[in-house]
This record gives sequence, structure tokens and C-alpha cells, in this order.
Amino acid sequence: MTLFEKIIDRSIPAFIIYEDDDSIAFLDISQNTPGHTLLIPKQVSESFLDIDPKTLGKLMETAQKLAQKMMERLNAKGMNILMNCNEEAGQTVMHFHIHLIPRYRHDELNFGFEKHPESLEQSYEKLKGMVL
Ligand code: 5GP
Repeated sequence: MTLFEKIIDRSIPAFIIYEDDDSIAFLDISQNTPGHTLLIPKQVSESFLDIDPKTLGKLMETAQKLAQKMMERLNAKGMNILMNCNEEAGQTVMHFHIHLIPRYRHDELNFGFEKHPESLEQSYEKLKGMVL
């Protein structure tokens, strides 16, 4: 059982700010900016990559409404909406979660993305002509 399932069933405490039949949102313990929240589905899945698409669709609607209300309440000026998939991408809890990270003028949060040396052309060769 993951940490987040324990938050769902209340066996560990969390600052829960929203809950419905399918999802729950609570403050991320790290608070990278004030109000940093995690929205998770109650249905078990590891990440964006394996969640059932219908559940994902509903969760994204909830994420949008929650983000709008959070921005109002916090008087935030922006929001980063982030999903880490797998350890290599920084995922530490293997229960799908959406980070809602409110942004404020001069909040100094820096994701530190740098340009990778592989060229645009090399990536394009691998990715072009997608069929879904
Ligand atoms: P990830 O790195 O997997 O995308 O995000 C996991 C997040 O869970 C991290 O931002 C981390 O701060 C948060 N987290 C880890 N343990 C706990 C906990 O016990 N309670 C809460 N509320 N958040 C946690």
C-alpha cells in the first residue's frame, strides 16, 4: 500500500482541502510554494502512463476547478501543473498524483531545466509521424 492510499483511508494524517467520490486533494508536505497541493484519484494507478483514461478525464476536470479556486483563495498569479512519471522523472510515490503548484510574483521557485545536447533534428527523427 502506498503512502497516498494511507492518506485516502485516513491511516496517516494530511491537510485535506478537497474530496469527492473519486479524488482527494491535500497539501504537499514539501510546500515548494505556499499552497502546493497534490490531487490524486482514489482508484489505484501508478502514474499518468497507466491510469484509466476515463478516470484521468474526470480528474483533469477536477484539477482545473481546484486550480481556479486555489488561485482565488491564495491570490496566486500563476500555477504549475506537474505530473512525474516513474523514478527517472522524479516520481517518489507510486500512486498517480497531480502537483498543483501556485506561483507568485518573485517566488524564486526554479525548476532549473537545461537544454539537452541532443539536437532537435535527432529527436524529430525518433518522434515524427506519430500514429495514436
Ligand atoms: P513526486 O516526487 O512523486 O512527484 O511527488 C511526491 C510528493 O509527495 C512530494 O512532493 C512530497 O513532498 C510529497 N509527500 C511525500 N510524503 C508525504 C506525506 O507524508 N504527506 C504529504 N502531504 N505529502 C508527502
